[in-house]
Parts: sequence; C-alpha cells; structure tokens
Amino acid sequence: CGIVGYVGEKQAQGVVIEGLRRLEYRGYDSAGIALIDDGRIASDKRAGKLANLEKAIEESPLPSSTTGIGHTRWATHGAPNDANAHPHLGARGRVALVHNGIIENFARLRARLEADGHDLVSETDTEVAAHLLEQQLEAGADLTTAMQAVCRELEGAFTLVAMDAQDPSRVVAARRNSPLVVGLGEGENFLGSDVAAFIEHTRDALELGQDQVVTITREGVDVSDFDGNPAEGTCYHVDWDL
Ligand code: GLU
Repeated sequence: CGIVGYVGEKQAQGVVIEGLRRLEYRGYDSAGIALIDDGRIASDKRAGKLANLEKAIEESPLPSSTTGIGHTRWATHGAPNDANAHPHLGARGRVALVHNGIIENFARLRARLEADGHDLVSETDTEVAAHLLEQQLEAGADLTTAMQAVCRELEGAFTLVAMDAQDPSRVVAARRNSPLVVGLGEGENFLGSDVAAFIEHTRDALELGQDQVVTITREGVDVSDFDGNPAEGTCYHVDWDL
C-alpha cells in the first residue's frame, strides 16, 4: 500500500525505512526492503508491522548501499505472510520489484512463465512482473526498456518500482491507475506512492501521468510512455505540512 525508492549519496536503508514509516498511515499488513550490494540484491521482508522488519534487519544487518526500494503491503492475492511480502525477486535474483495495485492478467502470465520452467515462490499477482522484467534484462534490455516492455503486457492497476542488481545507478518505476510521485533532490532522487515518502528530504515533486515509466539516477529523472516515447510529468512544490 506504500512504496519508496531511492538513489543518491545517503544510506538507502535509512531513507527507505523512514519513508515507509511516513506511509504507515495508509495501512498495511507486511513490509519489505531491497538494496543493491556489489552486483547482488540484498533484501528482507516480514509480515506484520514495520517494527518486525526493523527487528529482523537489526538481528541480520543488510549491507550498506545507496540504492534501495521499500514496500508496505495491503494483501489482495495471497495471505499476508513473509513469502508474499514484497519485494519479489526474478528467477536469478537479479531483479527486485515492489507493487501496489492488482495485476489482473497474472494467472495467464504465471502459467506461461511456469511452462517456461520458472519457479514462482509466492501466491501474489506481483511476482510475475519480477520474473518478466528479469527475462527482459537477461535478453539484453536495460531496466528502463525492460519496464516499458513488461508494462505493455500487464492489465490492471499498478505502481511498480524495480532495481537491477547489475545497475545500481538507477531505480525504475511505472504507473497505471495507481499513484506515483518523484521527489527531486540534489545528487539524489526519490520515488513514492505519495509525497509523504520523501517530504523530509525534498519538497520538489514530479507527479507522473497515466501509463508512464520513470527512471531516476543521482543526476536526473527521465520519463517515457510504455512505448518508449519521451513524456513529461507535472512538477509542483509541496508547500503544505504533512
Ligand atoms: N496485489 C499485490 C499483493 O497482493 C499488491 C498489494 C498492495 O497494493 O500492497 O501482493
């Protein structure tokens, strides 16, 4: 029910956990985080309150990283347990992905992936998107192009945020019928399901339009539609208090 993404100079773990705390008011049943460390995804996810995730990370610390994503889940497909919590990983653990919303055609996509030999480990509608994205990367696409291709296959309502372990320079997100906002910083950029996710770091925001993909790096933000054509979000300044 809440999403955070970060790439910059700070420790992503702190930024992501703090962002998730700011989104707690939306309600959720599980929470999770993923970071990129030396070509690998490091992640942890737990049913229950954010405190459960924080305790797990305290007991088994995650590596330091300046690229990360986080999620609070409001389960629609699959029980609220650790396995169904987000982030979900691709078949080789190269992609980490979080999702708010519902992928309506997931059963058909899942059947196709399973026929291709993919082993899906959760009951969610989300996991197919992680596998499809990783398939695109393994075929040579970069994360942005891969996200555009996957979104063209998905039906339903979704905000997706994903990372490629082999490219810590960017976090990519997409939206259809579900909110997504970019927080514009200096040498860092943020993604959130709403501005609460990053309000303590920046009040300059970019709201994405329908059916758009956004790529954030330390230096900038790039928006396209699902076909890869350049697109633009709407910039605004958050001048109210949360
Ligand atoms: N449909 C997804 C799930 O059940 C995402 C739910 C959400 O928006 O948090 O895991």
